[in-house]
Amino acid sequence: MALAFDEFGRPFIILREQEKKSRLRGLDAQKSNIASAKAVARILRTSLGPKGMDKMLQSPDGDVTITNDGATILEQMDVDNQIAKLMVELSRSQDYEIGDGTTGVVVMAGALLEQAEKLLERGIHPIRVAEGYEMASRIAFDHLERISTKFEFSADNIEPLVRTCMTTLSSKIVNRCKRALAEIAVKAVLAVADLERKDVNLDLIKVEGKVGGKLEDTELIYGIVVDKDMSHPQMPKRIEDAKIAILTCPFEPPKPKTKHKVDIDTVEKFQTLREQEQKYFDEMVQKCKDVGATLVICQWGFDDEANHLLMHRNLPAVRWVGGVELELIAIATGGRIVPRFQELSPEKLGKAGLVREKSFGTTKDRMLYIEKCANSRAVTIFIRGDSFNETIRCGTGNKMMIEETKRSLHDALCVARNLIRNNSIVYGGGSAEIACSIAVETAADRHPGVEQYAIRSFADALDAVPLALAENSGLSPIDTLTAVKAQQVKDNNPHCGIDCNDVGTNDMKEQNVFETLIGKQQQILLATQVVKMILKIDDVISPSEY
Ligand code: ADP
Repeated sequence: MALAFDEFGRPFIILREQEKKSRLRGLDAQKSNIASAKAVARILRTSLGPKGMDKMLQSPDGDVTITNDGATILEQMDVDNQIAKLMVELSRSQDYEIGDGTTGVVVMAGALLEQAEKLLERGIHPIRVAEGYEMASRIAFDHLERISTKFEFSADNIEPLVRTCMTTLSSKIVNRCKRALAEIAVKAVLAVADLERKDVNLDLIKVEGKVGGKLEDTELIYGIVVDKDMSHPQMPKRIEDAKIAILTCPFEPPKPKTKHKVDIDTVEKFQTLREQEQKYFDEMVQKCKDVGATLVICQWGFDDEANHLLMHRNLPAVRWVGGVELELIAIATGGRIVPRFQELSPEKLGKAGLVREKSFGTTKDRMLYIEKCANSRAVTIFIRGDSFNETIRCGTGNKMMIEETKRSLHDALCVARNLIRNNSIVYGGGSAEIACSIAVETAADRHPGVEQYAIRSFADALDAVPLALAENSGLSPIDTLTAVKAQQVKDNNPHCGIDCNDVGTNDMKEQNVFETLIGKQQQILLATQVVKMILKIDDVISPSEY
């Protein structure tokens, strides 16, 4: 910055805009971008697979998260490099579209870039590399379709679905309870699914967690669980055939507003005011009773006096229930949310066969279960936490476990949903990637142009997933991969993958390790798109740091 004066002596400031920027061009730009993306992929690589490592992330305000979910790790990592942010976006897109395979997609993108770097160094133009990758990705995409199989299940035979969800959960911290959790996830998805239209609305599944208990106590409730209790301890803890008024308007005597002046200078006046207030509230309670409500669920609170009155008038109530929960309660019970008290009418009441308050262990915690609802399509998965690691037992271990269980269940729910939408599957454990790698490699020979190098590199990059799986399981990566690849070619069996859990067979079909076809295809497409985008950047202009 410099201060200068014009011919009339007026001062002005010269900002040297150009000089403040650093600039990288050509190969340097690509190399630097590739290096940043690879750094992100390297972090996730060790988390891939059933034996993948977990990451511990601490937020600026001290919250600790332990997870091995790719999207979550990247979400919480505070990256400020633009290319690294693209990788975060990549994982997020996979999470958004598919919900699973978030680590794999980043590992794949990292490998593609690593291979691309070698090609660039050999003097191949980035556009050629991008085009070759595009061709290869289409070959891989189609090959996946070819090796995919239909996955048969029905509402009566949920076992195959459960097994697939177990594969997803096997690489998570919660894998000890994978069978139980997978069953819960599948039942929840089937409860809200419309099998004819092949549609699943995951919004109808509420995932609630409470610290304490054991992970095994996690349960599926055909109804809604709200982290609230009856407003008064003497209200009934169990209401059968409840008729529920769902209110978003205040449910208490009107409070004198400050802009009006009320002079209360005698005891009598105070008494009258009080009586008026009580009468008003009494009428509200009466109105609820008149329409037939046996339980009132309010978005707002009411004070102790109102609470006491409700208890006396024998009208149980729940206060401070959040908007999202109110909506779910309304959907589940077939009731209508009432925004103005005057609008309360019998047909707007929600109906539930049983509303009960449940307390937990020695804590004061209580939760409200709304079950046997009129519309049984809303369900709740209620997670109980347990400490997964002795060292964290005394700290916030339980809370973290619940959060991680929620994330893992989200993956399992997504897998079940994807299968209901489209029941094609490919086998996991890197077998699909190896099969695609072989197919792409063979296809490269048919391309006479420079692209063939890029296509071959794409085939090598596909090996990154099985390599990482082998490495993370403590196997010798190259030896294992070569053996499995040779076996695939010899037996013409695309189901051979990495035997991460040392089961004794590397046939993933026997091991029941599946992934959804759309998930795997999406991984390849997204990874290729991001890599192409990064390769096409040949000029990086950024503000230089002071
Ligand atoms: P992502 O976030 O990408 O889903 P995961 O850590 O869940 O990553 O790992 C998924 C990978 O692990 C997939 O390639 C899957 O096929 C593989 N995998 C999962 N379970 C097994 C298993 N029991 N044996 C071999 N591979 C497995």
